[in-house]
Formats: sequence, structure tokens, C-alpha cells
Amino acid sequence: MPEAYYAVANSYMVEMERNKVSALRKMKHYFNLGKEAEDNMLPCYLPYGESDVRRGVENIISVAAKVEEGGSLLEFGSVFTKPANEKGILEEKQYLANPLRKQMVIRHRQGIADFAKLAKRLDHIEITQTIPPKLIQTTPRRMGHVKPISLKEMNPTTDHIYEDRLIDLTLIEDPSFGFASIHLIAEDENGDVTRLYIYNVEQNKEAEEKLGHGSRIVLLNPYMRIGSQDYTNGIRVDEPRCVVYLDEDVGKLCRFCGTGEESVPFQCCALCKKASYCSKECQTLDWKVMKHKLICLV
Ligand SMILES: [Zn+2]
Ligand SMILES: [Zn+2]
Repeated sequence: MPEAYYAVANSYMVEMERNKVSALRKMKHYFNLGKEAEDNMLPCYLPYGESDVRRGVENIISVAAKVEEGGSLLEFGSVFTKPANEKGILEEKQYLANPLRKQMVIRHRQGIADFAKLAKRLDHIEITQTIPPKLIQTTPRRMGHVKPISLKEMNPTTDHIYEDRLIDLTLIEDPSFGFASIHLIAEDENGDVTRLYIYNVEQNKEAEEKLGHGSRIVLLNPYMRIGSQDYTNGIRVDEPRCVVYLDEDVGKLCRFCGTGEESVPFQCCALCKKASYCSKECQTLDWKVMKHKLICLV
């Protein structure tokens, strides 16, 4: 019985986006009913086991209470020990301030949020419609001839397959599933960013891990594709053998600047507990500029 109340309380999480105050009130109401039910349980059922749902709801209520008291979500639970940089992170790594990067990341996160909303309303969704590529990608003819290429060297206005070329990319967002292809955002060694669409690879747990934030991949014969409807450019992969997964354990990376966790202990987002940050500055920028909120509770 308590578990049922906690589950109801948890379900108001979806409503948080639309009406935070009323959702929170209802969440608290059902949480308290759950606690009451726990107190009234027959002694033979006690002690009541630890419930993940209960813990999750409790966490949200406590964070929200602190925010209501005037604190900011970012302050809560964040104890960064990294000494403040003299220069801000955007000055130190100027490519992070690229407006195109910001636009792509926000759009990607919005896509994940929209899809999650849709999935909650419908039992089953599968969007398999896609417009076939103009060009057919194949694997390189002879590997010995393959040379590296960067995003700057690729023309973003022309549909073109760069034959006998390879591009080394780091994924800077988690994959977005649910469409005909896996949607990704990738960065090359210069810090330039591109959208990336991988077709013909199953959208499962394995793909989620191999294509997660921070993973490195090499694409052979990359295809710069101009979107047939929105005219935006992105790299399209149709031939799965053109993707080489560099299977290295990337460990914890800062969600905003991509720094790896070394001597500085990272802090994670108080709400989702998934996104980690190297500094408060990065956490603030990810929340405010890159709209982490969109994917925080999906
Ligand atoms: Zn950082
Ligand atoms: Zn979060």
C-alpha cells in the first residue's frame, strides 16, 4: 500500500514542468499518505523495505523545499573543491561559447524532452519514416588510402560523401532514440560540432552505452548530408561498418566542458544524479545556457 502512494506521488514528476507548485503540493500529499500507510501497517509486515520510489520522491521534495526557501537548485548539494579559475571556463575554452554549439545542444535536448513526453502519453511509438539518402555510403575501397578530415574541411552546404576519409569524433551529448536514426551531437578535435544521425544500428542498451556522452568514435567515408526538409546539415551514417567504436572507458566527464575527473571530485546534479560537473561554473552554465532542465527529469 505505501508503495502505491509513493508511485502516485512520483507520477506528479511529469507535471512539474507545467505547474510546479500544484504538482509539488500533490506530490507531498501522496507522499504523506504513503508514510501514514507505512505507519499503519501490520507489525508482521515490518520493517518496510527500502523503496527506490520513496527515496526519489523524498529527494525531490527536499530539493524543492530548499529552492522555495530562496536557495537555488544549483547551490543545493554542490560542494565544489576546485579552486575558482582566474579566467572563466568560456574564456579558457572559447569553443564552448560557440552559438552554433549552444543551438545544436539545446535542440537535441528539446528533442529528447519532447519524445519523452510523447512516450508517456502513448503506449508505443515508433517513428520509422525517413527520406532515403541521396547518396549511398560504402566502406573505403582500400584502408591504406584513408586520410583524416576535420569538420572545418567539410562543406556544410553540399550533400557529399568524403570518400577515403575518416573523422575522429567525441560525442558531447547522450543519444536521442525513438526516430528512424539515432540522433547525436559530436565534436571534432578542434572543438567544432555537428549533428550526427546513425541509421541501421539497433536502438538498445548497448547502443546507449557505446554512443553515450564522452564516447569516441571514428567514422569512415563520412557523409555530409543536407536535411531534405529543414536544410540543416549533419553527418549521416547508413553503413554501420563505417562506424568504429573506440572502446575506451571514458570515466566521469563534466557535462559542460568535457573535462575528465582527475584529482577534483565532481558533483552531480541534485535532481537527476546523472549529470556530473567539474565546477559550479560549469553546472550553472549547463543549467542556464544549455538548458539541462530539459533532460534532467525525463
Ligand atoms: Zn566543467
Ligand atoms: Zn539534472
